[in-house]
Amino acid sequence: MVEISEFGPRPVTIDWQQCDTVLLDMDGTLLDLSFDNYFWRELVPRCLARARMMDPDRARIELFERYADVRGRLEWYCLDYWSEELSLDLRTLKAASSHRVRFLPGAREFLVALMGRKKRIIIVTNAHADTLRVKKGVLGLDRYLDEFVSSHEIGLAKEHAGFWPLLRDRLDFDPDRTLFVDDSVPVLDAAAAFGLGHIVAVTGPDSGLPDHEAGPHASVRRIVSLI
Ligand SMILES: [Mg+2]
Repeated sequence: MVEISEFGPRPVTIDWQQCDTVLLDMDGTLLDLSFDNYFWRELVPRCLARARMMDPDRARIELFERYADVRGRLEWYCLDYWSEELSLDLRTLKAASSHRVRFLPGAREFLVALMGRKKRIIIVTNAHADTLRVKKGVLGLDRYLDEFVSSHEIGLAKEHAGFWPLLRDRLDFDPDRTLFVDDSVPVLDAAAAFGLGHIVAVTGPDSGLPDHEAGPHASVRRIVSLI
C-alpha cells in the first residue's frame, strides 16, 4: 500500500494486491507530451505555412481552429485524416522528428517496477497505429508492456462512453481489479462513468509546461509516484 498526498485535490492510495491489470495512456502519462505539442503546435503549422506560402501566424491560427473542431474525436488523433486535410506528408514528418520522443521523468522506472509485480500491463492510447509504431520503436516499449491497443482499432476515442465496453470485450479485464492512468480529464471521466475500479490522473504531462488540474480524480504529478 502506497499513500501519496503530495499533489492534487485527493491523495492517491493504490492497493496493488487489488489490481491485476494496469491500463496506461501513452502520451502525457508515460511519454513526454512535449514531443506531440512540438509536432502539432509548432512543426505542422510551420510546414503548412511553407507549403501554402502563408504567413506563419495566420497558418497557426487557422490550423488551431481546425484542431478545435474535431478535438476529442478519433479524427483529432488520426495522422491519415490530417495528412489528407492538410495535403502534407505527416507520416514522414513524424518519423523525421522521432528523435524527440522520450519518457517522462521516472516513467521507465515505473514500468520496470510494475513488471516486477507481475501485473498485466497494457498501453491504451488514442494515438494512431503509425504513431504508436514509431514511439514503440524509438523507446523499445515492447520490453515493458504486454499489449498495445490504439482506439483507432476500437473505432471510438477513449473520451467516448462506448469505447470502454468495447475495450473490456477486447481485453477481458475485471473493471474492479483494473488500474487506469491517463492525463486527459475527459478520458478519465469516461473511464470513471464506465466503472473502472482504480483511476489516477497525471497532472504533469509536458515537462516544458506548468501542471494542469485533474478535475474530480485522484492525481499524481508523475506516474512514478504510484510505486
Ligand atoms: Mg495522454
